[in-house]
Amino acid sequence: MHRYQCPVCKISSTPYATRLAAERHGAGHRRKAHYGDHPIGERITRVPYRGPRGSEWRVIAITAALVAIALIVKTF
Ligand SMILES: [Zn+2]
Repeated sequence: MHRYQCPVCKISSTPYATRLAAERHGAGHRRKAHYGDHPIGERITRVPYRGPRGSEWRVIAITAALVAIALIVKTF
């Protein structure tokens, strides 16, 4: 997982699965907040993958159940 960080604005993006996605977030931030200029010290940092938590597991289980039901209905 990767985050874009801007030390000028003191912000850190939400984590992205790829470095490219974090870099795109940084490009958007530069365009909006810094008129396309590169803030000194901006960077992409690696953060550990945290995996689904709490209610996120419930959404995954419901989605998997719906897919299974759709496959069963389609079979018969
Ligand atoms: Zn900034």
